[in-house]
Amino acid sequence: MLKHGYLIDMDGVIYRGAELIEGAAAFIQYLQETDIPFLFLTNNSAYTPLDVVVKLKKFGISTTVEHVYTSAMATAEFVHKQRPHGTALVIGEGGLLNALNDVGYAISRDYPDYVIVGEGRVLNFEMAEAAHRAIANGAHLISTNADTWCPTDNGPRPGCGAIAAMLESATGRKAYHVGKPNPFMMRAARKRINLATDEVIMIGDTMDTDIRGATDLGFRSILVLTGSTTRQTLREYPFEPTMVVESIAALVPALEEAIAR
Ligand SMILES: [Mg+2]
Repeated sequence: MLKHGYLIDMDGVIYRGAELIEGAAAFIQYLQETDIPFLFLTNNSAYTPLDVVVKLKKFGISTTVEHVYTSAMATAEFVHKQRPHGTALVIGEGGLLNALNDVGYAISRDYPDYVIVGEGRVLNFEMAEAAHRAIANGAHLISTNADTWCPTDNGPRPGCGAIAAMLESATGRKAYHVGKPNPFMMRAARKRINLATDEVIMIGDTMDTDIRGATDLGFRSILVLTGSTTRQTLREYPFEPTMVVESIAALVPALEEAIAR
């Protein structure tokens, strides 16, 4: 089989809330044993890579921070590239704050270069007001991802994209979304696993982010039906994944078969 590697979304692929999806641990172990490159690729900007590693460990998956790439990291790289050593007012959590500090960004409410919105539960009206004022004073509005809602154990909650939309509506300015499917994040992920475009396979559960991002970049894609997409809703999209499987559990047998061929 050709050289290849995987970009792997987590929520809806590896786990759903606090529940591990069957076959996920075995698939990751298979990649590790066969030295197939992989990178966990998540639009959730609330957590640091270390937080993700610890969460996966609880599910019986051992990995290292080098195998995790979040939309918070992509966002930090983006603003650093645009304006090195700038300042940002942040509506988000530790994952985003840490990633920004790592690239030399300072967190500031006084005339920041950017207002950056991430996933999390920290929003209050005072923060919304400070963000609105900063944008009115010339700060650019950035969000770590455009997801308008996210699944939780107790049902849906508003996502980062919805908070960004509120600020767009209030200020009349458009947010720039860095996370999947933005080619900025997809390309940066490919470079991290050091593979060529036709060697990359994206595994995800969401058409608008995972499969759209892979399609735009020319990666192959595998849609799993354990998350946000059903066979019914899949038909509504003008693009298709390369392959559709019920769950990640189907992938180890499929890979072994491909190698045996
Ligand atoms: Mg997902």
